[in-house]
Amino acid sequence: MNAPSPTSIARPDILSVDPYEHAVWDPTLERLHANELPWRGSGDISAAGLNRYPEPQPQELVMQLAALYEQPRANVLVTRGSDEAIDLLTRAFCRAGVDQVLVCPPTFGMYAVAARIQGAAVLRVPLLQARGFEFDVAGVLAACTPTVKLVYVCTPNNPTGNLIPEATILHLAQQLAGRALLVVDEAYIEFAGAPSVARHLAAHPWLVVLRTLSKAHGLAGARCGVVLAHGEIIALLRRIVEPYNLAQLSIEAVLRALQPMALAITRERVALIQGERAQLAEALGRNEAVTRVWPSAANFLLVEFKDPQRAFECARAAGLLVRDVRRQPGLDQALRLTVGTPEQNQRLIAALSAQEVPS
Ligand code: PLP
Repeated sequence: MNAPSPTSIARPDILSVDPYEHAVWDPTLERLHANELPWRGSGDISAAGLNRYPEPQPQELVMQLAALYEQPRANVLVTRGSDEAIDLLTRAFCRAGVDQVLVCPPTFGMYAVAARIQGAAVLRVPLLQARGFEFDVAGVLAACTPTVKLVYVCTPNNPTGNLIPEATILHLAQQLAGRALLVVDEAYIEFAGAPSVARHLAAHPWLVVLRTLSKAHGLAGARCGVVLAHGEIIALLRRIVEPYNLAQLSIEAVLRALQPMALAITRERVALIQGERAQLAEALGRNEAVTRVWPSAANFLLVEFKDPQRAFECARAAGLLVRDVRRQPGLDQALRLTVGTPEQNQRLIAALSAQEVPS
């Protein structure tokens, strides 16, 4: 039997929301319909003019991102970073006080935060640490009751760095169809050198893929992410997304980053980070203060230390901030180290080798 439409499990009240009617977008006419100022502000360096509201879901940007991610335009929603995408999905699918999201810790914290803000409960099925943070497919499927609306898979996972095998994701997608959306967060996928599961969207309409420009494309400050999903899911999210969710300066920055020359630079930098990641992992593996370097397919390493507090302070004394992840379950000896420039990585290796905090 075919699974029902993926929007059949959306909040019924969201399905009937009348979207905000934003000012008509027609660049061939002069704008006296949006209560804007007709002059640019001083210091406005944008191409379009910041005195104007930006184009909602800008056509050119949607078209270029659709091309980048090899999807039809109807399957693409542009968001203010993946954070907004996570928030939109939670609000569209989870009824406060009734529905749940399922997360597999240790993982990215925003899935749970967005759920709690919406009043949705958070079910946790931990990754199997003893098996290299393997995804617990049986555990997830057993925990997935009818009130679970979103199941998150982060691949490569933050902060553990491991890639969840595509076969696992497709099996889950098949099993969850008709029950819950499988939201696959591929924020770091470029660093894995693995293909996106988005190419299976047509066969798996209950699959949702999140991509971001924040990592490999170096645009964290521009705040631009993308939801790739079945057209009905995208149409639903378009009804509730803020009309002007992307700032004009961000739209222009992302369009520049999608030019062929910029994309070539992105690919070079991803390769550089991959090389640095291997060298950093190798050097840390030889460090006596390190007890474990977890394999990583992302632009960071999860590293366990004999004395993580000391390691944290040594890095800090060398002017380097690393992420303390010790509060996450099972990671009480671990820090997450982002792979930086070759010079930064050398400085980090040296600082962690010394393991002496200057007094
Ligand atoms: N998803 C994961 C797994 C992340 O680690 C992060 C940020 O660190 C995000 C999403 C947020 O991405 P964005 O900057 O697009 O909001």
